[in-house]
Amino acid sequence: MPSVFLTRRYTFSSAHRLHSDALSAEENARLYGKCNNAHGHGHNYAVEVTVTGAVDPRTGFCCDLPALDAAVKRSVLDRFDHNDLNALPEFARLVPTGESIARLIWDKLKAEGIPLDSVRLQETRDNFFEYRGER
Ligand SMILES: [Zn+2]
Repeated sequence: MPSVFLTRRYTFSSAHRLHSDALSAEENARLYGKCNNAHGHGHNYAVEVTVTGAVDPRTGFCCDLPALDAAVKRSVLDRFDHNDLNALPEFARLVPTGESIARLIWDKLKAEGIPLDSVRLQETRDNFFEYRGER
């Protein structure tokens, strides 16, 4: 059965601070630069969720779009939007880098049963992160 890929884009705004307890103050400052600022900073994130599946002949859809929107809202937007990522339990032992956020979104949506192909996170004009699971 041929598969189709559908990508849907969502946005959220969050604060974070890049800081690893596994590194010294000097290493944190060198590695993360201004992103290690003690008071944190914010981003307007865009996340592109790509799902895949066969087209259902009854609906013409490859995925239940309302179910996808509800899962992203519940698991990602309602938790991350206008929030401090470092204060969330999800990031208690995880530096909230773009890499970590993309993977966490993948894990959350997988747990909701979403047929994912990839999660792509845009953090700034120039920085994108993509997670495709374990392949
Ligand atoms: Zn940042």
